[in-house]
Amino acid sequence: MLQQLLRELQLTSTKLVAVSKTHPVSAIEELYKQGQRLFGENRPKEMAEKYPQLPGDIEWHFIGHLQSSNVKYIASFVGMIHSVESLSLLQEINRQAAKHGRVIPCLLQFKIAMEESKYGLDMPAAEALLSSDAFRQMKNVRMAGVMGMATFTEDKEQIHREFRQLKQYFEMLRAKFFQNDPGFCEISMGMSGDYRIAIEEGSTMVRIGSLLFGR
Ligand SMILES: *Cc1c(COP(=O)(O)O)cnc(C)c1O
Repeated sequence: MLQQLLRELQLTSTKLVAVSKTHPVSAIEELYKQGQRLFGENRPKEMAEKYPQLPGDIEWHFIGHLQSSNVKYIASFVGMIHSVESLSLLQEINRQAAKHGRVIPCLLQFKIAMEESKYGLDMPAAEALLSSDAFRQMKNVRMAGVMGMATFTEDKEQIHREFRQLKQYFEMLRAKFFQNDPGFCEISMGMSGDYRIAIEEGSTMVRIGSLLFGR
């Protein structure tokens, strides 16, 4: 499955985050042996437990809802945090990254789905965050792009619309805040059920779990 998926993603240079949450270290080793180096987890303590048991050249992305009080468990090693949805969370990431002398790349998570349950910013909140003095003073985080999850639905047109919306948010923010910053370049969208639609809409990074690991 991994090789087939990688061939598909290669056509558009889309990166694969293999979402290994709830799966054991042995399952991660299996994909590692096949060449996969980028893994995603959504529980800070689970990620912090797996990290020392696995090879050091794995890049760990945090993709789930993150409480400020849990940033400390992952700050020393996390390669990217996809789920920044408030200034206060970003401030804590910055503070913890500074303790380790690191700069942590972050994505702004937008709420693009209809479901009440999905987290994320809207455009005014994202603009307020990026315009704030507090953000401008942060030296230990780097804004690398946006992330979003589409509604869980059979309606493909709706999924297309939501991903298109996220891409538009990305382009508006890039034009307003990151014109001279090629590091603001990632659109993290697409999961097992909707990654093909996400790629059509311009995803640079898909986060795929069940398709690779089973349920
Ligand atoms: C679990 C999860 C995924 C992967 O979902 P699958 O449907 O198993 O591919 C992607 N993104 C986030 C934020 C997740 O929590």
